[in-house]
Amino acid sequence: MTVVSSYPARAVVDLGAIRANVRALADHAPTAQVMAVVKADGYGHGLVPVALAALDGGATWLGVAQTSEALALRAAGIRTRILTWLYSPSAPLRELIEADVDLSVAAPWALAAVVSAARECGRTARIHLKVDTGLGRNGMLPPVFAEVLDDALKAQAEGAVAVVGVWSHFAFADEPAHPTVLAQAVVFAEAVALAEARGADLEVRHLANSAATLTNPAVHYDLVRPGIAVYGLSPVPQVGGPQAYGLVPAMTLEAELISVKDVPAGQGVSYAHAYTTSHATTLGVVPLGYADGIPRHASGSLPNRPGAPVRVGGRTLAIAGRVCMDQFVVDLGPGAVEVAGDRVELFGTGADGGPTAQDWAQAADTINYEIVTRLGARVPRVYV
Ligand code: PLP
Repeated sequence: MTVVSSYPARAVVDLGAIRANVRALADHAPTAQVMAVVKADGYGHGLVPVALAALDGGATWLGVAQTSEALALRAAGIRTRILTWLYSPSAPLRELIEADVDLSVAAPWALAAVVSAARECGRTARIHLKVDTGLGRNGMLPPVFAEVLDDALKAQAEGAVAVVGVWSHFAFADEPAHPTVLAQAVVFAEAVALAEARGADLEVRHLANSAATLTNPAVHYDLVRPGIAVYGLSPVPQVGGPQAYGLVPAMTLEAELISVKDVPAGQGVSYAHAYTTSHATTLGVVPLGYADGIPRHASGSLPNRPGAPVRVGGRTLAIAGRVCMDQFVVDLGPGAVEVAGDRVELFGTGADGGPTAQDWAQAADTINYEIVTRLGARVPRVYV
């Protein structure tokens, strides 16, 4: 069990920001419903609290990758529509159908498996046929989509399934002008037209993730599926930060200094001495490491590569030396006044000029998605 009060670090999650972000997304897509994507433990923010906040903010669907996530939402008493999309032949399909979870069908085997599970439990499974419009990942290329569509409509006539959705996912949504965006939208429109021409009575056609929700109204259709923007992070940081889209980062990652000590010039810091002090200074130790999801790539070695930024006492400083399993070091500067127990903010809203998850992504050569989703299970989430 985690004792939050004595743990020297925490991710503070602002559920009001989640609610407001969903409202902002709904404003960006006024003709569509919002499916809040809460997979990967709500992008590291906590599956159930985030789901409830997103529903409060106006989301009418929840989207998850793993079937276990869908069942966890149901176990928490959430009765809203849920779509799950990443499962293998060993998935508990009967349980999912009985739990009234919508299922993606992204391959011929999946249709056969869902039909047989639905027959076994005497229920109608709601399915969303996934067409691969160009991502080259999960989903059926158009010729296979057409065949599976026909089979699905036959199974629908028997009552085993209801084809309620056709859906797809972009490869370059974060580059709104990329030619594949339009090309994929065209293939998607053809797949939808085919399904409708063959008699499917589609409830939801859906294609847009956060980036497309914010930048491409032409592809909103009936339902948008934002993930990262729900958490207040920009899916297109090279185009605009969260504030440009009316979003507020929901997570602040903070810790308490566990040690502050003066060291002389020439002090090697942390493993392999990747950082060496150039003058007498004060070092502070922060009790978070790669076991907590802090990227080792966020390490700092001067002069070539400053580490990821942290905020201490109103100053923005950088990680000094290697990130270790449970801790890292910050060079607080000569004569620093900090003491053990003082607060360090790794990232947050950025409102007071402090670092953001996007700053961390840049420092660690990754994307903001990875910074929040990799946050370790042992870091307590505190909801405000
Ligand atoms: N739809 C699907 C199929 C996804 O896999 C994801 C996340 O990767 C999303 C929607 C949400 O994407 P984003 O977080 O970029 O909004």
